[in-house]
Amino acid sequence: MKEHDLVVIGGGPGGYVAAIRAAQLGLNVACIEKESALGGTCLRVGCIPSKAMLESSELFQMAKNHLAEHGVSINADSVKLDLPAMLKRKDGIVSQLTKGIDGLFRKNKITRYLGHGKIVAPGKVLVEGAQPEEIVCKNIVIATGSKSAPLKGVEVDNERIGTSTEALAFPEVPGTMVVIGAGVIGLELGCVWSRLGAKVIVLEYLDRILPGMDSEIATEAQKIFTKQGIEFRLGMKVTGAKVSGKKCVVTCDGAEPITADRVLLAVGRIPNTENLNLDGVHVAYDNRGRIQVDQHFQTTIPGIYAIGDVIGGAMLAHKAEEEGMAVAEGIVWGHCHVNYDAIPAIVYTHPEIASVGKTEDQLKEAGVPYKKGSFPYMANGRAKAIAANEGRAKVLAHAETDRVLGVHIIGAHAGDLIAEAALAIEFGASSEDIARTSHAHPTLAEIVKEAALAVDGRAIHF
Ligand code: FAD
Repeated sequence: MKEHDLVVIGGGPGGYVAAIRAAQLGLNVACIEKESALGGTCLRVGCIPSKAMLESSELFQMAKNHLAEHGVSINADSVKLDLPAMLKRKDGIVSQLTKGIDGLFRKNKITRYLGHGKIVAPGKVLVEGAQPEEIVCKNIVIATGSKSAPLKGVEVDNERIGTSTEALAFPEVPGTMVVIGAGVIGLELGCVWSRLGAKVIVLEYLDRILPGMDSEIATEAQKIFTKQGIEFRLGMKVTGAKVSGKKCVVTCDGAEPITADRVLLAVGRIPNTENLNLDGVHVAYDNRGRIQVDQHFQTTIPGIYAIGDVIGGAMLAHKAEEEGMAVAEGIVWGHCHVNYDAIPAIVYTHPEIASVGKTEDQLKEAGVPYKKGSFPYMANGRAKAIAANEGRAKVLAHAETDRVLGVHIIGAHAGDLIAEAALAIEFGASSEDIARTSHAHPTLAEIVKEAALAVDGRAIHF
């Protein structure tokens, strides 16, 4: 029987990072992944392919509608979409990156098992693959990720009515696409197909989009996306969706049924714990299927740990990665830490939306006294130069200590700008610290500096 110090179940950003970090720390590590490609949801059918499609569709949109304002004249009617080429480019990027993880595993001497991992007992895992085999180990990390949540009445056929996986590879641009759920995944993929020519209707149960993000920024985002042609129907309770011939019919409480060519169900994701034998080994999970862990990511059973989407918290690749590093260090060193206040979240639409720390809504609810500084993109020179006039940055700082509590940005490259804010929160910086730091001119980063200056009413350029 094969023996390892650590067996990681799942080769996504949580699992492969845990495996690599543990190997760096000298453990004999194995990773069991049921898909032939490593990298998990993120690399195969999540972060990476969606960002490839967002970039390509944005360039298409740019060529069609926005080059003229830069004095680059082309005949917009001659701009043609080659969807197979776009999809092939995306698949090529996924293939390169997933193979890259194979390379990292070889470099770090991590044993890879292809198959479904099932915990037989603490210290014993069965790999259900072409040739089932049992492996023994000192520790197990469960990093099995998540899957798309179902919705009662919505009959997913994984073709016309599908999840994000199908929406990353539609073979043609749908005439009409209904997106159920105005969260990050629904909006990103809705934007892709809208830019490529689909009429996109987003149905959302709540009375706002992007639940969980700063509501002021979300309202601004909705206005911008509406101008871009996306239709939002808020406060809609979807009761069903069915394929009918080559169309789909979506029904909602108190509204006319909607006929569409494709439906994307994007109402959230649920932990993936199928056939892991959690009950058999007494690993506890909550009523939403999230495995319960302590501050060292240990489950209710010593020697069995869990990280990433399969436990609570934000379902984000970089959060899973931080936990992957931490769990390995905790196993070897006995201590580890992840600062959840400093985990940014980004929506890769155009403009991007990025956020770290507390939202204004959370501060109000918790009764924390705060000051706020805001600065618009349109007052920044670089933003003008790159025709990125929409959006703003908002810095929230404690009213008494000035410590930065949250930063929220909507605008071009917000996803890159937020890194500075995450660092500020990680270092316990004040808004004054950001305001006093020299930011190169002309850069979009000056927007964050000016928003920090605005916390005490001293923004220079607005
Ligand atoms: P996963 O990446 O889901 O990996 C789990 C792996 O475990 C999978 O490969 C699965 O096959 C394997 N597995 C499951 N059960 C078993 C078993 N029993 N045995 C063996 N293998 C098993 N996050 C971001 O931060 N930024 C983004 O831009 C972003 N975009 C996204 C876009 C889309 C369309 C989607 C769906 C998600 C996106 N996410 C994004 C979320 C991100 O993909 C996840 O948060 C991240 O992948 C979670 O990492 P993980 O390691 O916990 O799980």
